Amino acid sequence: MAECRYSIPKIRYSCPFEAEEGEEYCIFHLPKEKKEPKEFWKHLASYLIALMENTEDEKIKDFLNRREAWIFQEKDDVLIGYYKSKIEKGKRWEFTGFIFPEMDGEHNFNNFPLWDADFERAQFSGNAGFIRTKFSGYAGFSWAQFSGYAVFSEAQFSGDADFSGAEFSGYAGFIRTKFSGYAGFSGTQFSGNAYFSLARFSGNADFSKSQFFGYANFREAQFSGNANFGFAQFSGECQF
Ligand SMILES: [Zn+2]
Repeated sequence: MAECRYSIPKIRYSCPFEAEEGEEYCIFHLPKEKKEPKEFWKHLASYLIALMENTEDEKIKDFLNRREAWIFQEKDDVLIGYYKSKIEKGKRWEFTGFIFPEMDGEHNFNNFPLWDADFERAQFSGNAGFIRTKFSGYAGFSWAQFSGYAVFSEAQFSGDADFSGAEFSGYAGFIRTKFSGYAGFSGTQFSGNAYFSLARFSGNADFSKSQFFGYANFREAQFSGNANFGFAQFSGECQF
């Protein structure tokens, strides 16, 4: 089988997975029109379980033991084996450039524990749910594209979170989100309303050159480190 063609030479990323039959890309990198969401979620469920079973972390072990999330119903054991053979222990969880179908009430990352995770350049075709997601390490969303609602409310970023260059086309929700490390929103575009109310930034927060085209709400957000809003543009109403 042919390898998936997706690669970003600049960051030395090349997809380790096999292309879908008759296609140039794997199920994760195939354009939205070319894949069945059901098939995508089955693969993602299996990939996530493979990643989790390969990671030493109490929170993740506990999550695996409880087996409450949708991934345990939709996984496929053969695929788990396949993904385990493709990933290396101790490495970042890669979702680089993945093209996600619209998330719904079931298929989302709400309440998931995630390890060092890279969603750089990922495309979220519809709503993206990361409510109460616990990122235990680095969380990379640079240049990611969110086409629908993107909800990170009450999520916890224990390491650095990088949303630089990301584009939010719809609502962006970071209500009560906790950023324990650096929070990077440099050059981030918010086309819809952006809510950072009650968010806590314990490290430095970089909103330089960010653009807010809708309503921007930072009410009762707490900045313990430096908050850089240099050259940020607010076109709509904005509340601090
Ligand atoms: Zn791929």
